[in-house]
Amino acid sequence: MRASCTAIWLAAVASAAAWGQLRVGTFKSDVTPPLGQPLIWVMPTTKIEDPLLAKGVVLEDRGQRYVLCAVDWCGLSNRSHRLLRDKVAKAAGTTPDHVALQTLHQHTAPYVDGDAYALLEQMGRPVVRFEESALVQIADRLADAVKKAAGSMRPFDQVGTGEAEVERVASARRLPTPDGKVVIRFSTDGKKPEMAAAPEGPVDRTVRTVTLGQGDKPLVRLHYYATHPQTWCCDGRVSADFVGAAREQLEKEEGVFQIYFTGAAGDVTVGKYNDSSVAKRTELATRLLAGLKKSDEATKWSAVTELNWKSLPLVLPKKLSTQQEIDARLAEAKATDDEAARYRLTIAAAFGLRQEPLSASLLSLGPVRIVHLPGEPMLEFQRFAQIAAPGQFVAMAGYGDIAPGYLCTDRAYDQGGYEPGASNTTKGAESVLKQTLRALLGSRAPTGSGR
Ligand SMILES: [Zn+2]
Repeated sequence: MRASCTAIWLAAVASAAAWGQLRVGTFKSDVTPPLGQPLIWVMPTTKIEDPLLAKGVVLEDRGQRYVLCAVDWCGLSNRSHRLLRDKVAKAAGTTPDHVALQTLHQHTAPYVDGDAYALLEQMGRPVVRFEESALVQIADRLADAVKKAAGSMRPFDQVGTGEAEVERVASARRLPTPDGKVVIRFSTDGKKPEMAAAPEGPVDRTVRTVTLGQGDKPLVRLHYYATHPQTWCCDGRVSADFVGAAREQLEKEEGVFQIYFTGAAGDVTVGKYNDSSVAKRTELATRLLAGLKKSDEATKWSAVTELNWKSLPLVLPKKLSTQQEIDARLAEAKATDDEAARYRLTIAAAFGLRQEPLSASLLSLGPVRIVHLPGEPMLEFQRFAQIAAPGQFVAMAGYGDIAPGYLCTDRAYDQGGYEPGASNTTKGAESVLKQTLRALLGSRAPTGSGR
């Protein structure tokens, strides 16, 4: 009798341990567009230089599951983002608000907004669109990979944090002038001597790496670094660009699953160091890889027993806030024969019409705080998040649902220039976003405004 009581007691302890155990599964799925499907904006794919991947983790704690997913695409917005996120959630056995689906924002990759396509078709002015059947096929393949990962999770009990400087990769897109204005340095402007010679400007050179491990064995590494990962664009060639090259090389060398997220890179590019040549792209990949390796080597471990997740709705002020403004934008789109312009104008109108709030989320794991934002947040928001959680290791991934476009500071809206001009939000977005970051990260955040 006593023996069987002991057995029951031991079984209860064992199941409590399993319940409290953190588990992780990794997944990888090919998201390369089939030939003929458009890359940003409407350029049909003609050649695959290297495949595009969606890589991520399924995490489990106390019966709840969460997914972090990094997709080698330029952008996914509105119903197209929702399609992938919902399928991933279902495959992982969780709800969509437990999924952070972020793109890396390469410009040799698709930019897909199903709401804009629908509006264009309604007005009888369709563009070369990413076919729904091709998108569903890619989403289903990704969901299969997520399902397999959820079915083969391993326990982890350590989280590692590492950081290192990445030298001569990120550079500011907005260069301040003495009269308080800005000069814009685009991703390929390194071919202009004066732009290559101009200072790097305000950037965050630090790559931050989160490692999940069992004992001292790393199981997966997640890297966060803020720059537009764009060395060339818009000629029909597909590539995961220099960030994909560095990530995959590291995975090969280290033998550990590697995931890369683009941080708050709205006003950061490689423009100082890039002239679109293969040589420059290779140099950028080499220097990023060196930074990733240093960050891995700097890993400090902490024991972890639980994770926490917070997701908040995010309602940003819209640039097109009245039906009249939206109608005017749609009329402008209808009138132009430039298909790329027609698509871009309609994307702006689609955000004006959007009813569903965006979302922002936070994963907390020991000292680690990983923030997921939609759109293309300016670097200021990454800095703000880091100050908002003193003593914590804060990493940020931008480029979730890209429907709002650039998320700018009030100051940038006043100054003007490329990002506020292209943004679908407007002045006031800064305070909403900062309030949300404060609510995610805790109340001790500063109240100041951005640069
Ligand atoms: Zn961008």
